[in-house]
Amino acid sequence: MVRMPNWIGDAVMATPALAAIRATFSEARVTVVANPLVAELFTFHPDCDQVIRFDKKNSHSGVAGFWRFCCELRRERFDLAILLQNAFEAAAMALLTGIPSRAGYRTDGRGMLLTHGVPAVDKKHGLHHVDYYLQMLSGLGIEGGDDRLSLALSAEEEKGASVLLGTGPWIAVNPGASYGAAKRWIPERFAAVADSLAAEFGVQIVLTGGPGETEIGRDIEQAMQRTPLNLIGRTSVRELMAILNHCRLVVTNDSGPMHIAAAFGVPIVAVFGPTDHTTTSPRTDNCLIVRVPVDCAPCLLRECPIDHRCMTGITADMVLAAARELWERAR
Ligand code: SF4
Repeated sequence: MVRMPNWIGDAVMATPALAAIRATFSEARVTVVANPLVAELFTFHPDCDQVIRFDKKNSHSGVAGFWRFCCELRRERFDLAILLQNAFEAAAMALLTGIPSRAGYRTDGRGMLLTHGVPAVDKKHGLHHVDYYLQMLSGLGIEGGDDRLSLALSAEEEKGASVLLGTGPWIAVNPGASYGAAKRWIPERFAAVADSLAAEFGVQIVLTGGPGETEIGRDIEQAMQRTPLNLIGRTSVRELMAILNHCRLVVTNDSGPMHIAAAFGVPIVAVFGPTDHTTTSPRTDNCLIVRVPVDCAPCLLRECPIDHRCMTGITADMVLAAARELWERAR
């Protein structure tokens, strides 16, 4: 049983670790346990055989829901739990499920619950999240083959995106970031970049994002001269994956969709503000990061307590220059 992290971006960055687990335990049946959104990433994924949803907000909420989930999981009779999520709860789940071997970082006061605890390392500075997960496995003697991200789509899903988008080529603009407002660049500047790219490259623009980001999508739509296809809040995670895979370029904040695009090898212009580009950059060569060095970054805050200079200092021209460079490279 592999307990996945709770954020989409983190889970995508954990896919090289999942590949290493699959390669090491090649005879084993690998089950991913994840929250409902993250679970969607792993449908059809070649490195797992089964996905089980842990819906803490609904059907598994509260102590009774958690206990019920552990009882359901117990029926699977897992031999080993590998916890890529760091919470105490993940280790408690593995223990209450009766899994005899429980491995993960010794974080959140859960060392006593693990049979194979790996000393915690500082996730914040310098160590990329992909390597953070691989390093934990390395502490268990599980070595990864490579550090490439991987996600998979079915032929039907690819066809669905192709039918939905129709004639392209398409550039995706992904202006949200579910972690918090501090990670979001200014919507009017996304709009200016989108208009310029549409005019220069003769592309269509699709706006992507989650249900909590519809207002940002509306703002961008209103600010644009051209009419984009606004799919913000209108797609499942699987549909979003297929749409991003279909695009020729993605312009985005540091977000889950950014990592999904990286997994599909789509060129990415990534705007970074309060987060650490050395630890959560898209794991791909096909990416340019746009940022301004400010003294307070990376603060990793959800809301900016001052004037949001890490984002307001990034101009539309800076993002456009990066997009042009990637576009030329792809040609
Ligand atoms: S404190 Fe600094 S790095 Fe953090 S969001 Fe505000 S401007 Fe950006």
